Amino acid sequence: MAGCSRPSEIRKAWRGLWGMNVPNKVRHFAWKACGNILATKENLWRRKITVNGLCEYCGTHTETVGHLFWFCKHAKEIWSSSKLFMPFEVMPSWDFMDVMCQVQQWNDFMPGLMERTVMICWGIWKNRNEIIHGGKGRPGRAVVRSALMMMDEYQSANESLEVGQKSTNTTVSDDWWSMDLEVVLGQGILYLRLMRGGCSWYILKIWVQNP
Ligand SMILES: [Zn+2]
Repeated sequence: MAGCSRPSEIRKAWRGLWGMNVPNKVRHFAWKACGNILATKENLWRRKITVNGLCEYCGTHTETVGHLFWFCKHAKEIWSSSKLFMPFEVMPSWDFMDVMCQVQQWNDFMPGLMERTVMICWGIWKNRNEIIHGGKGRPGRAVVRSALMMMDEYQSANESLEVGQKSTNTTVSDDWWSMDLEVVLGQGILYLRLMRGGCSWYILKIWVQNP
């Protein structure tokens, strides 16, 4: 089974990734992973930046995107502690985009699947980077918990921001700032009209052509 075969599926997956309600840094991470430009050991090794491409977690396999996020024993531990039900099986030949295409197809039936999947992958990536920089790394449960908690906090902050903006708009429309602009093109003249209540003022006239 191919993960991502049709251009329409790929476009849909990109749109899904674009629209995720997750912190920007996580979205950027997902875009990089989909373009296979994450600094995985395999990518660094191919560019002769590291002497080996071995996984930081297990040290026995090449650290490809697929191995790091799905097939490494550490990744498997993380996914099993996440209790996130993946309605399909990831194939060893798939890249990140293939997985995202599948996730996007299921996302309509399981809202939030893409966001959760990407957040957990980001948790795996962050934990792996901590290990590379001399940290001990955290157990799977902790990786999942902190990634999903970060998403929840981000989404609730966004919600309260939206509520705040709505109430601000209501206040604004009550005062004199409640104005509309109308652009009128008549007889070769472009008018920019400012309206408030029943009154209106022409504030700008631009000659489009000689009348
Ligand atoms: Zn590994």
